Amino acid sequence: MSQILIQSVLLDDERVDILIQENIFQKIAKEKTLSVSDPNSVIIDGSHFAIVPAFYNTHTHAAMTFCRGLSDDVPLKIWLEKYIWPREASLTPEDVYIASRYAILEMIRSGTVFFADMYWFRTETALAARELGIRASIGVTFADLLKKDFEENCQFVEENLADYSGRVQLAIAPHAIYTNSAETLKRCAEISERFHLPYHIHVAETEHEERGSVTPTQGLSPVEFLDSLGVLSERTVAAHLVHVSEKDLQILAKRKATCAHNPCSNMKLSSGTFQMKRFLEHGIRVALGTDGAASNNNLDMREEM
Ligand SMILES: [Zn+2]
Repeated sequence: MSQILIQSVLLDDERVDILIQENIFQKIAKEKTLSVSDPNSVIIDGSHFAIVPAFYNTHTHAAMTFCRGLSDDVPLKIWLEKYIWPREASLTPEDVYIASRYAILEMIRSGTVFFADMYWFRTETALAARELGIRASIGVTFADLLKKDFEENCQFVEENLADYSGRVQLAIAPHAIYTNSAETLKRCAEISERFHLPYHIHVAETEHEERGSVTPTQGLSPVEFLDSLGVLSERTVAAHLVHVSEKDLQILAKRKATCAHNPCSNMKLSSGTFQMKRFLEHGIRVALGTDGAASNNNLDMREEM
């Protein structure tokens, strides 16, 4: 019987003892009232610590630990086109597997129990997640501009969905409006609806993102454009949303989309300042994410807080 006793730890302004048995929280009681029966138990002095709920990292690119610290002080467009995409072009599955393991260990160490990922070689990241015991939403990434693999991606989802029904699940992850055509964005939404999977996408990360859109947006903002395609819903996890108008916020609230806010990444890439108060005033669900380690430079949710 494996037992862990955490003594006198701070929980909601009160000092408590916590007993964990066979990986399950068995008991929480007033401090100095619980004990363990097994001599091999682990006893932790929690008197200098607080215990908080585990973290859910709602937007990351785990394997990007391989290019942590690669380029500083450049905006997103240059960062992607000059530094990141050329290196990603020569990545191997093994690279992604190893880099994902690093990422997951770093997340576990800083209290994260779940991450929503968007990257290449998804099966390698999924394997790393399964091996290390973390929960994950593994994005099947669509980016027309970089890889023409739409049909292959769809086939992967259909054939593998059953294997991703437990701790590690799938998401549909069209990268952004500047890497995917309107047609791809719409078809991704159809798959997301058909299989009840999240629709994970970067939106309005930089100012005037719509100018780089693969399909001309006819003067619409990124949020308005996506809504005009009918792709926003309660399954949408929109990362960043730094540059939004009042109308955008109304749309996001109406569609019940979730925003994954990435404060460190927004600062590192000088993307802008997220308007948290306005999101909350509109009742929009806001979650936190680290983004990839390359644009952060770590995966520690405590820093995002
Ligand atoms: Zn991202």
